[in-house]
Amino acid sequence: MEIKSSYTLKGKIIIEGVIEAQTGLHIGGLSDTLKIGGTDLPVIKDSYGRIFIPGSSLKGKIRSLLEKKEGKAKVKIKFYKIVKKDNKEKKEYTREIECKLNELTDDKLKLEGDEQGYEISAMPCDCGICYICKIFGPHNSKNIKEPVRIIVRDSYLVKKIDGGYKIIDKKEDKDEYYEHLEIKPENVIDRVKGTAQHPRFIERVVAGSKFKFEIVFNVYKENDKDLIEKFIEGMKLLEDDYLGGSGSRGYGKIKFEELKIINKPIDYYKGNTNALSKKEANDLDDLTVKLDEIWNY
Ligand SMILES: [Zn+2]
Repeated sequence: MEIKSSYTLKGKIIIEGVIEAQTGLHIGGLSDTLKIGGTDLPVIKDSYGRIFIPGSSLKGKIRSLLEKKEGKAKVKIKFYKIVKKDNKEKKEYTREIECKLNELTDDKLKLEGDEQGYEISAMPCDCGICYICKIFGPHNSKNIKEPVRIIVRDSYLVKKIDGGYKIIDKKEDKDEYYEHLEIKPENVIDRVKGTAQHPRFIERVVAGSKFKFEIVFNVYKENDKDLIEKFIEGMKLLEDDYLGGSGSRGYGKIKFEELKIINKPIDYYKGNTNALSKKEANDLDDLTVKLDEIWNY
């Protein structure tokens, strides 16, 4: 009985604010090459043409950064040999091993017998018991041991209006809408001739654009505060990493701004509006301090 009551929802902690794109941001959508003036690689938009950062992109990136930090990702190594068939090279796999990222040593990557190389891939953790699995849920839902804590909403491109924010609409706010998009040509330079090869046109959301974000934590246990602190650590890692594609080429530097943290204990949902508490935070370090101040579980 004790176990059952310990997983009763005790309340919700909501972190909200604005994500500012500090460099051009590209989160890929569906290709529109057939349209006149279309780009090879457009930015993702919803069915109304509104530009947004999918919750799954934000959630997935923060998760992968925390997994790298902890060495939690599940690594799969496939060793292969190459066989020539009809003058075409064909890979034949000889062996496959799995390990955690933090167990991956040079020793594990040594070739055996007639193996000629290996391919490596890393999947999210699915242990079900580490803090990452508790926050985000294990990669394999069969391994869920506790209720998943987090919800990451889609973050829409917004403009400031009357002290608040409004989603920029493709039709209503046409001029502003197109001011937030740019087409960046990229190519590969031929190392001998010095000429540009394979030109492609990548659509980006321009630097300075703002997206309204919201993250909800379901609180089940007194020490769930640790999980929220870990998540904020992941947000900090993201500020020094990138969101979306082509990060190594300078895309996707973001900053979390105008942060607010709101505590809605279960009493609030029962009708006690005084139970709600809300604090503003200057940055992510301050957010951890403010979390401490509003935490009453
Ligand atoms: Zn795990």
